[in-house]
Amino acid sequence: MYSPTFFNDSRSRIHRSHSSTYRIQPHSKRRVAYFHNKDVGSFHFGPQHPMKPERLTLTNDLVIGYRLHEKMDIFCPPGATDEELMEFHASAYIKFLKEVTTENAKQFSKDYFNKFNINEDCPIFSGVYDYCKIYAGASVAAAERLASGVSDICVNWSGGLHHAKQFEASGFCFVNDIVLAIQHLLRYYPRVLYIDIDIHHGDGVQEAFYLTDRVMTVSFHKYDNGNYFPGTGDFDEIGTGTGKYFSLNVPLKDGMDDDSYIVLFKDIITAVKDKYRPSVIVLQSGADSLGKDKLGGFNLSIKGHGECVRYVKSWNIPLLVLGGGGYTVKNVARCWAYETSILVDTEVSEELSPDVTNFYALFGPDYSLHPQLVNKVENQNSKSDLQKLTQQVLEHLKALDGAPSVQMQEMPTEIYGNLEKHDNELKDLREERRADYRLRQRLIWHDNEYFDDENDHDKDQLIDEENG
Ligand SMILES: [Zn+2]
Repeated sequence: MYSPTFFNDSRSRIHRSHSSTYRIQPHSKRRVAYFHNKDVGSFHFGPQHPMKPERLTLTNDLVIGYRLHEKMDIFCPPGATDEELMEFHASAYIKFLKEVTTENAKQFSKDYFNKFNINEDCPIFSGVYDYCKIYAGASVAAAERLASGVSDICVNWSGGLHHAKQFEASGFCFVNDIVLAIQHLLRYYPRVLYIDIDIHHGDGVQEAFYLTDRVMTVSFHKYDNGNYFPGTGDFDEIGTGTGKYFSLNVPLKDGMDDDSYIVLFKDIITAVKDKYRPSVIVLQSGADSLGKDKLGGFNLSIKGHGECVRYVKSWNIPLLVLGGGGYTVKNVARCWAYETSILVDTEVSEELSPDVTNFYALFGPDYSLHPQLVNKVENQNSKSDLQKLTQQVLEHLKALDGAPSVQMQEMPTEIYGNLEKHDNELKDLREERRADYRLRQRLIWHDNEYFDDENDHDKDQLIDEENG
């Protein structure tokens, strides 16, 4: 979608700011904002469907139970508007999603369902459009806050739905909140690095930015010669035109374990970061790459998965963290709550006591944040295979030196000079955004609603603390 380079992309809408003295103030703790609309957990794809939005309720329950909300700014974001969704998606598709309901679905011709890929993977369920607006709105709001500069890290576990395409649903994803968020970030940052650690290829995001050098997509996923959903993501998919070499794919076989995954991930992603010098990062942290996932086939532990998040966070580059797949609900919640604790630099107890969660019974028999998740599938990736794969991917990265839009080695002074100039212009734009953001307060309020319902296990304690 984005064929222009960032040097001449009209979407960047560069305006000179008066605030040329703007500097980013150093600070040791990163400011984290958490976006959660509690309604998102109440939708149902259907009893047999593996996607269970209730995993988001469970995740949030653990986040609150571990009192991590006290370390973040909490927001209940508004749903995305039709217009916001149409910034990426075709208007005919959005119009259809808006109009179709479980009651009137039969009145639509089958052609619509075929055209928009509505089927048992992506069924029309009660409130489907509201669900889309909620999770996409949270990602757009999170991107907006990140771009305003008032938060260093923004988190939306309900987002990360990377398969949705411009004209159609795919793989349990109806609208692509990641593309919408990145489109927003591109207005304020020259280069966006998208990292995807879901077990499935991040095809929808790759496709949307396949032609541009302003977004580099890097997806680590299971690949089985086209036989594992979505079938794409072989390592020779590298982007095209201006985007050539700005899509990277790391196709893996079943059984990836912590040791092999973390080494591979760090080797590749460090090289990407050093070469591409992203100004902002979007991390899709799909939890179906964990061991014992109902649809996955890797052996990652929650600590192993979290290590990827910890590593990317350690670079101190503005970071948008999103959810994604994840089909063993209790492990998804464990994983994302643990990763929230990493983002706010807080150690949490391994023991899941009734003080920590309202859903204690679900976490048996171990009642631990870190259950054994290995041994479901043997690791079919040999060490030498993985070294070879890493080398191949790094070769693609080296080819960036010859990419017409970058040519970093050929003309380092000129190119880096241009990058810096552009960075500074966008920095000014972000500063304007920051002031604008504070005035508009589109993102509402610190949301205390978590403490108002009958399930509130912290309420009495909080009242005691206030009185004491
Ligand atoms: Zn997935």
